[in-house]
Amino acid sequence: MPFSALGLSPALVQAATAMGFSAPTPVQSAAIPAVLRGADVLGSAQTGSGKTAAFALPLLQRLQADAQNAPRHVRALILVPTRELAAQVGEVIRSLGRGLPQPVKVAVVFGGVSINPQMMGLRGGADVVVATPGRLLDLVEHNALRLGSVEHLVLDEADRLLDLGFAEELQRILQLLPVRRQNLLFSATFAPAVQALAEGMLHEPVRVTV
Ligand code: AMP
Repeated sequence: MPFSALGLSPALVQAATAMGFSAPTPVQSAAIPAVLRGADVLGSAQTGSGKTAAFALPLLQRLQADAQNAPRHVRALILVPTRELAAQVGEVIRSLGRGLPQPVKVAVVFGGVSINPQMMGLRGGADVVVATPGRLLDLVEHNALRLGSVEHLVLDEADRLLDLGFAEELQRILQLLPVRRQNLLFSATFAPAVQALAEGMLHEPVRVTV
């Protein structure tokens, strides 16, 4: 099935094609229509499955549908376990979002580096924030960003988020988010702690297993 049959706009199909994606991967075929219709998704997906575009393409479309003017409020929050993954996910979203009718501002923030440039980068707001949990909370405490308008939450590599000890930070972040929002959780493995996190966070999720 081609990307165009999944409900994506021509601009996003073109963005995927420009990245060299000629046909969706299985996780993309299953997740994209579900994310587009606003469902929560529980994705069992390994790195290399194409899971980044599986959430990035439909979220970009949903952000396009109802673009906001400055000042920008965070509308999509993507939590990842490591700075490398943050940079990588941010780059994929920026690449796919380039050339869309409504520009999408993506901020990438992670710990282990000075917070000041990240605070500067958040001035004027961002539509999409890709973050590691600890640094995200630091930025909230510095009033560099607010999470009260988040519409879409993604936990990417949820198993690694828990393995790296981010459970408490995740709970604190969840409490800062609006109750009504779309939740997507991707994980390669489903130990009991990951299942408990998913059960606490997802509402009638569409299960995507590849
Ligand atoms: P991910 O699982 O998101 O880390 O993606 C793994 C790799 O697959 C990345 O290098 C992507 O650029 C690539 N990729 C993602 N979707 C597709 C697709 N539909 N066709 C070909 N390559 C893809």
